Amino acid sequence: MMAREEKQRFDVEEADLLVKELQKSFNSGKTKSYEWRKSQIESISKMVEEKEKEIIEALYKDLSKPETESFVSEISMLKGSCKLALEELKSWMKPEKAKTSLTTYPSSAEIVSEPLGVVLVISAWNYPFLLSLDPVIGAIAAGNAVVLKPSEIAPATSSLLAELIAGYLDKSTIRVVEGAVAETSALLEQKWDKIFYTGFCNFIYYTYDLVKTFFNIKIPICSCHLICSGGERVGRIIMSAAAKYLTPVILELGGKCPALVDSNINLQVAARRIIAGKWVCNNGQACISVDYIITTKQFAPKLIDALRKEVEEFFGKDPMGSKDISRIVNSFHFNRLASLLDEDKVSDKIVYGGQKDENQLKIAPTILLDVPEDSLIMKEEIFGPLLPIVTVENIEDSFDVIKSKPKPLAAYVFTDDEQLKKDFVQNVSAGGMLVNDTILHLTVSSLPFGGVGESGMGAYHGKFSFDAFSHKKGVLYRSFDGDATTRYPPYTPQKHRL
Ligand code: NAD
Repeated sequence: MMAREEKQRFDVEEADLLVKELQKSFNSGKTKSYEWRKSQIESISKMVEEKEKEIIEALYKDLSKPETESFVSEISMLKGSCKLALEELKSWMKPEKAKTSLTTYPSSAEIVSEPLGVVLVISAWNYPFLLSLDPVIGAIAAGNAVVLKPSEIAPATSSLLAELIAGYLDKSTIRVVEGAVAETSALLEQKWDKIFYTGFCNFIYYTYDLVKTFFNIKIPICSCHLICSGGERVGRIIMSAAAKYLTPVILELGGKCPALVDSNINLQVAARRIIAGKWVCNNGQACISVDYIITTKQFAPKLIDALRKEVEEFFGKDPMGSKDISRIVNSFHFNRLASLLDEDKVSDKIVYGGQKDENQLKIAPTILLDVPEDSLIMKEEIFGPLLPIVTVENIEDSFDVIKSKPKPLAAYVFTDDEQLKKDFVQNVSAGGMLVNDTILHLTVSSLPFGGVGESGMGAYHGKFSFDAFSHKKGVLYRSFDGDATTRYPPYTPQKHRL
């Protein structure tokens, strides 16, 4: 037993050896060829095709994710990414012609996309297959060697990824390291050419019962593993580690994604789409899930009725018993969500749902009306099935509510008012936006996907993934003709004027 544990521990020494091995392979030039990139992406595509059943089973074990959801939001999204990369790879790899100036005449110029080297992808648990492999596809397309660290909070998917990637992909350039904070920390001590991180433990001021009992204080807890004492977040840990070697980072983080709901809408369609962006997507455990709604005082009752009606249409009168809704990932997150709901000033604001079952890790779709602004549920990213509705006198006042919080990863507006749409797009800052729907912008590969401010930095998807893992090298070509003497000393007043 001891020997097995020792063998499983991945430490700094092993991390160092791993990076050196991959650097050697990268330096051999093998990852640069079109053929290598193509063959590895084809292998991912084949792997997803052949192992669909195993992937669905692992996602079910980790999150009781319904099969349809696993297929639509993980498997088919990945297949789409592979297909697009294979179709476009040649054109992405082609140097781009660039304009030259009179100063360099005669000359030509181009932008060459070169791979960065050995990159680290650290992934989250909520869409554990997609969020692990999608950036890996970008890294491979751009010609890099990659180490993937999947999330330990989705252990079945993590171990399946380790097994499949070892079986299907080139071991000398693409590897998986499983583990939690210790293993990730060992990896973060190494020099990488880029770190791509998806996650972020929002600043969860979650009161541990134990701590509450003994000390009667609130402490911020990041992830299940880390109790931090100040303003630390995992994103900051990643950036600090990267700073040591000036490693560039992409941080795909989270935040509180608002949905502004006007009254001049097709209410049934809007309600269904809000539900799709909340309980249908991993029971709210999604980075771009609707975190809270803002609507007018007058319209709120109608909206609540419509949401209730459509939730029951989708999940039945007892959504807790529905097979079409994911459970909460683990008891830490269950208790975190329960504590948001049980806060004194919040619990009496429930207008729908509120049931929870710790044994099954289930929390029902829950709607709350007008919870106080200073409650935890309005401060923290909810990342679960609780949906607070904030009411305002006039819909225009919604902008102030959104602006009072850190910039979200996504912002949604439901309206038929063209001016409101324009104002929303121009005045609300968010990683991405969607008018009259939720979530779907993520599926459009021609749009960059990423955050702004505290919701992240850098973007990926489609060509943006290729660019995320490439260095854009500017190259100027000159011949020996046109060697103007004006640039050389001795300087004269005439040369100065030129
Ligand atoms: P997390 O930060 O707890 O974990 C993400 C990864 O970081 C895991 O692989 C984990 O092992 C590692 N990690 C955790 N603590 C660490 C530490 N102290 N040192 C080093 N590594 C550490 O995040 P999560 O709980 O897996 O994911 C949920 C969060 O991710 C939410 O905030 C959500 O909004 C965000 N998210 C963002 C996107 C996006 O695309 N922007 C997608 C999914 C999730």
